[in-house]
Amino acid sequence: MVRAIVGANWGDEGKGKITDMCAARADIVVRFQGGGNAGHTIINEYGKNALHLLPSGVFHKNVVNVIANGVALNIESLLEEIEGVKKSISAAGGEAAINLLVSDKAQVLMGHHILKDVYEEERLAERKFGSTKSGMAPFYADKFSKSGIQLWQLYDDGDLRAKIAGVCEKINIELKYLYKKDLLDPDAIYDGIMKLGEAVRPYVGDTLAFLRSAVREGKDILLEGQLGALRDVDHGIYPYTTSSNTLAGYAAAGAGIPPYEIKEILAVTKAYSSCVGEGPFVVELSGDEAEELRRRGGDAGEYGAKTGRPRRVGFFDAIAARYGCEVQGATCIALTGLDVMGYLKEIPVCVAYEIDGEKTESFPNSAKQYRAKPVYEYLPGWESDIRGAVREVDLPENAKRYVSFIEEYIGVPIAYISTGPKRDEIIIRQKNV
Ligand code: GDP
Repeated sequence: MVRAIVGANWGDEGKGKITDMCAARADIVVRFQGGGNAGHTIINEYGKNALHLLPSGVFHKNVVNVIANGVALNIESLLEEIEGVKKSISAAGGEAAINLLVSDKAQVLMGHHILKDVYEEERLAERKFGSTKSGMAPFYADKFSKSGIQLWQLYDDGDLRAKIAGVCEKINIELKYLYKKDLLDPDAIYDGIMKLGEAVRPYVGDTLAFLRSAVREGKDILLEGQLGALRDVDHGIYPYTTSSNTLAGYAAAGAGIPPYEIKEILAVTKAYSSCVGEGPFVVELSGDEAEELRRRGGDAGEYGAKTGRPRRVGFFDAIAARYGCEVQGATCIALTGLDVMGYLKEIPVCVAYEIDGEKTESFPNSAKQYRAKPVYEYLPGWESDIRGAVREVDLPENAKRYVSFIEEYIGVPIAYISTGPKRDEIIIRQKNV
């Protein structure tokens, strides 16, 4: 069966933990979009690891991890990450082998994409998008204008040196006149990328053929999304989105799997809200209230896994989460970070937005979100530590009530309730799995 695990919010929902957990019974874990511009934090027997490009199945020996065609492939970062994970595994006494297959049709993220990303944010100054400076926007612009390079070209394109020279010619005009920076040397770029191509070559293959036959054989395949629905370039808080599609719907194209084969879409949503980077964030808290929630969510790493930036935090935004689940096409939900809420006497849940004096329950465009004020309903808290709970019956009544409230509001069954960052800190609601 093919299942997608995707984010319903702004990213950092805890998808890494849920994928790592589900990977125990999967055959294949696939990354289908985005690049190293976000991170999954995984805490298991190998310690705490932040993954950026590697699929979250890398800690399971029997899982084949696939980086599919839709991914922005920074080869240098990938090689570093492979070394880091191998080190963590062998430090814990495990066998440091990574079962990885990288699509020969993955687009290669180049050093100049990162440079342009950095220079453009500098140029925009106050109007910046809050990029992670990983090169995503220039990378996807090149991909869709067909100035990019697919991985196979490093092995099988006699014309590549000339193509790179042609691309540099254009970029150098921008570097010289717009950004006033040093120019690119096409030969150095060619030599560098060819070297990286050789280093990654042992992992490269035809992932489409591999996945198609795995689907035919009925293998258990997990499609792992990066970031969340609200950062999707089409349906998110544009222009404060990422430059790729973060939706399960894109997984079919980004991995090359028939859309009708994706039978389950597990949307991960946090029991409160958090957001790294710029853009509207209706439920944002400030001052002591924010500091407290950020501190309580400390284990939830309320500092971005990629950038170390402090996350903006707020209470659960049911409007945003319901919209996120809707655009993901969620068939079930994993609710994470429930343990974080145990300190509150009453828990505010945002159930409507007030915009220009009118109440709405729909998720509006970015300009309206900037003008929106949250309308809260207050649920009784449970004021106790539920960290590590594995059975629903052991939860305090008010915690159960909170979960049911969210489930009813969103209208999608909650299959997993995560009660801590570790792999086994989870309640599996069998009836919904
Ligand atoms: P991802 O990009 O969606 O995988 O999210 P991140 O890994 O960036 O951020 C999620 C953070 O929450 C990580 O630090 C996880 O270890 C942590 N986490 C995941 N689930 C839970 C949970 O149920 N409770 C707590 N306290 N932390 C969690």
